[in-house]
Amino acid sequence: MTETLTSALGEIVGREHVLAGEAISEDYARDEALTVTPHKPDWLVRPADAGQVARVLQVASAAGVPVTARGSGTGLCGACVPRRGGILLAFERMKRVKEIDVHNHMAVVEPGVTLSQLDDATRPHALTYPILPGESSGSIGGNVNTNAGGMQAIKYGVTRHNVLGLEVVLATGEIIRTGGKLVKSSTGFDLTQLVIGSEGLLGMVTEVTLKLRPRLVHRQTLLLPFPTLEAVTAAVPGLLSTGLDPLVLEYIDLMTMAAITQHTGLDLGVPQPIKERALAYLVVVIEGRTAEHVQADVEAAGARGLELGAMDAYVLPPQAGTDLLRAREQAFWVAKKAGAGDIIDVVVPRAAIPPYMMAVSRIGQEHQTLVVGCGHAGDGNVHLSVFQPDPKIRGRVVRAILKAGMDLGGAISAEHGIGSEKMAYFLELEDPVKLALMRRIKQVFDPKGILNPGVLLG
Ligand SMILES: Cc1cc2nc3c(=O)[nH]c(=O)nc-3n(C[C@H](O)[C@H](O)[C@H](O)COP(=O)(O)OP(=O)(O)OC[C@H]3O[C@@H](n4cnc5c(N)ncnc54)[C@H](O)[C@@H]3O)c2cc1C
Repeated sequence: MTETLTSALGEIVGREHVLAGEAISEDYARDEALTVTPHKPDWLVRPADAGQVARVLQVASAAGVPVTARGSGTGLCGACVPRRGGILLAFERMKRVKEIDVHNHMAVVEPGVTLSQLDDATRPHALTYPILPGESSGSIGGNVNTNAGGMQAIKYGVTRHNVLGLEVVLATGEIIRTGGKLVKSSTGFDLTQLVIGSEGLLGMVTEVTLKLRPRLVHRQTLLLPFPTLEAVTAAVPGLLSTGLDPLVLEYIDLMTMAAITQHTGLDLGVPQPIKERALAYLVVVIEGRTAEHVQADVEAAGARGLELGAMDAYVLPPQAGTDLLRAREQAFWVAKKAGAGDIIDVVVPRAAIPPYMMAVSRIGQEHQTLVVGCGHAGDGNVHLSVFQPDPKIRGRVVRAILKAGMDLGGAISAEHGIGSEKMAYFLELEDPVKLALMRRIKQVFDPKGILNPGVLLG
């Protein structure tokens, strides 16, 4: 079967775009999840267009061979790690920005387009695609399938709020278009939203229509040190109720701040006596149309921060502000280098962050496990690094931290996804009725179960 399938795939995409065995680089065996065991696919297939994707799926379907989609492999939950005996469908040849529609403020792109490529394409038009998960080499296809978020979600929402239409190839090889260049539609089930965040289980995304925004060039960064972690998270609702519309509202705990500033050699100019007493920081970025508007909003945010318990307020010089956000994006690599065994991205209602952080600290203490982090405080989304060398104890800690989030009305993952890494927790903790419904939906989209089996739903 192997040779027959290899030659059938070669006829569809061209022989040079079907790799097998040793010819497949190790990079395709993994993503960036910390706990998922890498393994290579039996075939790496690189299609050039939706028609080729459709034919590959027909062939795979007939042969009963699993197919996993891969964007850039920057995911944090093992969702694109291929199945043994399966095909990895890599979208690296499908990376055309098909259109920047300056009148409708929309972009039409192929799934392999990366965030940095899209940023380059929108800049000359003074437009931007504002969804910035921490890794700009991530692809739009991957962002759509994980419903990526990132630091600017507080202002612009997450991927699902910025995707207007999709072209999707179903497991049968049929091609559908959902949505389009429309900001509204009340026309039946919203299939666009169903596919977003589905981790490659429902279909292959071959084109995406995205909402663009005017690119605002004026911005300032405010740094607010707080005496406790609870104080910093408790201040978030108060800051937002001012009506200020921050671009970024991140909390960074003491250990994470120390680690990322040391890693990047960044000096934020915080005086030593404050540094010694601050246990957490809030980073507020304001953007706007004019420097004057930004200045006025930053002053108002600083004053409100002081009322809410900040020890001081520092407006960072522009370069230091940019460097701090870059350093914050490095938090994952810094935690990985320091030996973090797991990274968690629970989301709870914003106002529940203080009790949640208290629960997390109690769980850490009970299991003698260091749990530190930072996160998108404005979204109720915390990124926690768990340092516990014993995998069994670490598993108990992770489960307890995820469950504590769900008990407060939260969800296991805000933006990284479930993949294979968090699947066992998801299947145990999620409502079984919802899981059964998801499985029935999966069955309708993919009757033979060839799309990314072993991920999300088991
Ligand atoms: C340092 C670092 C920081 C990060 N910070 C954030 C953050 O702040 N917020 C955040 O949201 N994420 C963050 N991420 C996670 C990551 O960037 C996202 O998960 C990203 O959306 C994945 O894109 P990708 O192209 O790498 O997808 P992949 O990892 O290749 O795939 C992800 C999923 O999408 C599926 N898929 C890919 N392309 C298609 C397609 N065309 N059709 C169907 N399914 C497809 C895959 O099968 C898989 O299920 C971070 C990652 C790193 C390494």
